[in-house]
Amino acid sequence: MGKCCGDGNKAVEPGESSSPQCGSASTAENAPENGPLAWFGKMIENCYQYATDARIAGRHIVGIMCEYTPRELIMAADAVPVCLCGGSAEMIPAAEEHLPANLCPLIKSTYGYHLRGANPFLEMADLIVAETTCDGKKKMYELMAQTRPMYVLELPQKPTDDDAMAHWITELRKLRAKLEEQFGVEITDEKIRQAIKTMNCERELRRELAALMRSESPPLTGRQLLDFKSIISGIDADFEQYAEAIKQFRSRSDSCSKDPAVRVLLTGVPMAHGAERVLDIIESAGGLVVCMESCTGVKPILEDVDETADDPIVALAQKYLRLPCSVMTRNDRRMDVLRELAAGYRPQCVVDLIWQACITYDVESYLVKELAEKELGTPYLRIETDYSPSDSARIALRVEALFETVRGRAFGQGRSN
Ligand code: SF4
Ligand code: SF4
Repeated sequence: MGKCCGDGNKAVEPGESSSPQCGSASTAENAPENGPLAWFGKMIENCYQYATDARIAGRHIVGIMCEYTPRELIMAADAVPVCLCGGSAEMIPAAEEHLPANLCPLIKSTYGYHLRGANPFLEMADLIVAETTCDGKKKMYELMAQTRPMYVLELPQKPTDDDAMAHWITELRKLRAKLEEQFGVEITDEKIRQAIKTMNCERELRRELAALMRSESPPLTGRQLLDFKSIISGIDADFEQYAEAIKQFRSRSDSCSKDPAVRVLLTGVPMAHGAERVLDIIESAGGLVVCMESCTGVKPILEDVDETADDPIVALAQKYLRLPCSVMTRNDRRMDVLRELAAGYRPQCVVDLIWQACITYDVESYLVKELAEKELGTPYLRIETDYSPSDSARIALRVEALFETVRGRAFGQGRSN
């Protein structure tokens, strides 16, 4: 494991501070073409190289498609967990040959990659670990499993019920046994604890980066922050780049925006790699996504796994069952998380992204709107879309209108003070 958590917290010494351009670095070593942004700009290439090398070294590749799947167990089997969620619109027509058109684009894109054999990580995967989250995913997995090795984790649906945790612990023990049998390895408690430490370190580094957006003048954009993420966890070189990015961006005093940007809390569905269009529209229209609550944002990294627990499987179960996803009933924790994030990141508005036909996040949008408008006192915008750029202009207009409302309120408050 690379040096990570300690370095990320290191105070910036006098003289270390620099004034690079937004998102760039100051020294030759950390020049834009070599620095952390450039590193994560080549994230897919980096991960491909890592996975290829891992296979040559005899390690297995395991595809995952949801943040409920504990990567730690896969890592403890000396395998490489790779996120397979599809973000490409190009894969959707192929998927619609088997799947209904009126289905979430994330599911269709992932399945399109499967049909076309176009995701090299999926093609490398020795096993896919799926999970019973939303109906669309569950049923898509059945089709994918016709030709690919798959293991499905059964998620409890009522996470706060007394027996839910017992069931989830059993499911994780079954996954451990499956990985041991499939790969002919023994997953000891010690190996799980080591993987927990690695993942906690990764979460801490990513939290540190995200926390930079709490500043009055955040040193990076929401899009840059989103790009600081890898589809493979636990890569040493990534950890070093996270630590370097924290050091560089902490030392900056200038904001990424020339004009004061509208601070946005973005919530809702995950934005898989390649599906960042709405975030780009928001930031092109004068917004700054200071916090993304979704599974591609801070949701999975808000809490760590207890490294001192007697039973590491229980510790994993406890952390992962607390993930506030809309597939759960009830999902009150999402509202609690949004309250906490709003207090820390001080958004001026809330944007709720819903992928077309994502019923669970769509229904919850009513609760998020209530929370934003009545409790947080911020304007709220629900954006329902898919991966096609055909509605980009319409979304941009709605986002601009939202920002006008925000600026109008700020002006009104300024006058009354
Ligand atoms: S939003 Fe829910 S179903 Fe989707 S990746 Fe996150 S936890 Fe899994
Ligand atoms: S965005 Fe919604 S419909 Fe799509 S996979 Fe996630 S939970 Fe399912």
